[in-house]
Amino acid sequence: MITHQEVNLLLNYTAREGLAISFYLNTDGTERNRNIWNIETKDIVKKARKDLENMNVSRRYYEAAENSLRRIQNFVSAENFAPHYKSIAIFSNAVENFYQVYHLPVALKSSLTLDTNFYLRPLLAMLEEHYRIGVVLADSRRSRLFEVYMNEIVEHNDFATKTKPPRKPLMETFMKREKNLMQRREEETRYHLSSTADALRAHFALRHFDKLVIGARKPLGDHLARLLHRSLQSNIIAVMEMEITEKEKDVLAKAIQAERNFEMEEERKLLRRISSEIEKDGYAVKGISRVLEAAQEYNLQTLAVAEDYSVQGMVCPECGMPHIERQDCVCCGRQLVEVSDVIYDLVEEAARQGATVRHISGESLIPSLENVAAIIKFKRGELVRIEEATENEF
Ligand SMILES: [Zn+2]
Repeated sequence: MITHQEVNLLLNYTAREGLAISFYLNTDGTERNRNIWNIETKDIVKKARKDLENMNVSRRYYEAAENSLRRIQNFVSAENFAPHYKSIAIFSNAVENFYQVYHLPVALKSSLTLDTNFYLRPLLAMLEEHYRIGVVLADSRRSRLFEVYMNEIVEHNDFATKTKPPRKPLMETFMKREKNLMQRREEETRYHLSSTADALRAHFALRHFDKLVIGARKPLGDHLARLLHRSLQSNIIAVMEMEITEKEKDVLAKAIQAERNFEMEEERKLLRRISSEIEKDGYAVKGISRVLEAAQEYNLQTLAVAEDYSVQGMVCPECGMPHIERQDCVCCGRQLVEVSDVIYDLVEEAARQGATVRHISGESLIPSLENVAAIIKFKRGELVRIEEATENEF
């Protein structure tokens, strides 16, 4: 599982020396096999070698990069391709002894990039589409924490498993003892749940999760929810009946289900918002032409696109801007090249602009939005109107 720390490490990585090599290999599809992946890697590496020869780098950098390329090729030929992973990503800079391999559950386009920094856009776009989910299991004495991310699960074994409150000296008489026992048990449970809430807050601060599922018997789960810090409360996506001894694979299945339900609800909200904005001629557009226009004006806030939607188009080889029917790029004037699926480039461009991208799986609402729509940041001409209005005041 890719941890938040690993993502940060890649994000903050700047090569002081050498070349940063980013390699993606798409291993998705049943008709494709290891033979094909080996050949594909060979071709990609061959092309990279040619690029490397044309680059004006020192002998030392050249040899280090050459080493990385060989290592990548060897890795792929020795790899046991697990079917639930759909891509491999390798980031390497041999001069700085940096080498990281990730197995990814999402299909990404195969590519290899030689640069001073890692090429992270496809990886980041994929990461953005998934929530990191914490699943806390609790009974009245014990608690466990799991982290679920992109269909993988790990347990945090350092999470408080058992809590015992400090024992207070009890000076009660025999008659009072029964009542106090009840009281003490209640106190102990409350103490345990508060400690669990504190531990959860600490793990949340370390970015071990950004959404939370609570698994406990009723009504314990609701009690725990109430004891959580406000920042955590607003990130609870489900409170479910679960046992403290729940098997890992069942925790995973339930977390995935909770995430899916949450996402469906978010999708519905987003689509409702887009529709109502479009109805009142507000801050949203629909249809490929209008959405591409918004992209070209750096005006994308949130992009919603039907999961299986694709359309032919053009893309700028220089700045990557997608277009539908044009000769030259509206942004930089370069001659455009044809692509079979301009949605792919649109999604990349949206990510580059810092927009949120949502692939919509539910089919009920998206046809009326022509399969692609976006929340935009501004409407064309609105700032000019404000300016004119202000000028008229003087
Ligand atoms: Zn361009």
